[in-house]
Amino acid sequence: MNKTDSYLGFELGPIRPPSEAYSLLLRINRGCGWNKCRFCGFYRGVPFSPRSAEDIKKDIDLVKYWVDVFQGKEVSRQPKSEGDYEACYMAHHWIQSGMRSVFFQDANSILMNPDGMIEVLEYLNQTFPQIQRITTYARSDTINRLSEERLRRYAQLKLNRFHIGLETGNDYILKLMRKGVTKQVQIEAGIKAMKAGIEINEFYMPGMGGREYARQSALDTADVLNQVNPNFIRIRSMALAENLEMYEDYKSGLLTRPNDIETIGEIRLFLENLHGITSVVDSDHILNILLELRGKLPEDKDKMLGIVDRFLELPQEQQNIFRLGRRLGIMGNLRDLKNTVLTDKVKETMEKSSIDESNIDMVCDKLMIRAIPI
Ligand code: SF4
Repeated sequence: MNKTDSYLGFELGPIRPPSEAYSLLLRINRGCGWNKCRFCGFYRGVPFSPRSAEDIKKDIDLVKYWVDVFQGKEVSRQPKSEGDYEACYMAHHWIQSGMRSVFFQDANSILMNPDGMIEVLEYLNQTFPQIQRITTYARSDTINRLSEERLRRYAQLKLNRFHIGLETGNDYILKLMRKGVTKQVQIEAGIKAMKAGIEINEFYMPGMGGREYARQSALDTADVLNQVNPNFIRIRSMALAENLEMYEDYKSGLLTRPNDIETIGEIRLFLENLHGITSVVDSDHILNILLELRGKLPEDKDKMLGIVDRFLELPQEQQNIFRLGRRLGIMGNLRDLKNTVLTDKVKETMEKSSIDESNIDMVCDKLMIRAIPI
């Protein structure tokens, strides 16, 4: 497939960040132009291909048509294809959520040629002038290749938030995982984008360095974020699936899989070492154990450390109940441990399925992988 292919209809990519649940999704490119990270399987088997500005504008037209239908400004018709159904659904969902934000898919949409991107942004703004925010996943090396002037223009056209997969600030792990960027590149990209008026959301992946590099990963990641002071820091715990390349490192013994309790310990060290920044920290990813871990720095740092400590200081039996409760979707936050209906339900599952100290790590790992496509 290449740029010259004719329009294939409205398209949706496979993923978006949890915080973009209310955004209109528009596909700028298919797959990931890098697609080499050993901890990521989202786009394996999806050949990267850009979409033309012309095709993306057709997607925008289709969403506009359905928005107008739902707002009584257009005569309704039956959707003509799967893509048309998706555009119809997307328009309906977007109206319900206020039509304020748009998320550009798939990975690293800023790879699009800058003139094409400007064309799409201008058209989107003309079509839906009420939009307040357009966001995308962005790789640090690509940000660094764009001029500050270009980034500023994107921000003016409301492409004003980048979700960056920092993952870790540790150079050894970044290299081992074939992330394709260094700690320094990540620092420069974050600072550059923010200087151009773009908000930054950095994802941190605790657990990725195994037990062996947990401490260094926490400290180096905190160091990057202390230098960037991003608007948002989001935690997304590592899930270790057998189909991921990094699984080899765990099989060979190079790295050891940390369990949930150890991962929370890494997160504690990380939080403790965030200094002098004003970021909002969030833990809103389904893969995280402590979803209630959120707050604004610096004022909420002690509160967040308190949440972590509440978990770490629980008797092991209670920790296990909560871990399993979270992974089964029975429990949402630590308060649920006081709910006897929920705790009894988890205990019953443990009994029926013979889950105990000897196999709980394995069970939790398996449930974690089931929670999302990796
Ligand atoms: S983590 Fe991001 S950059 Fe790396 S392969 Fe996955 S989508 Fe591409």
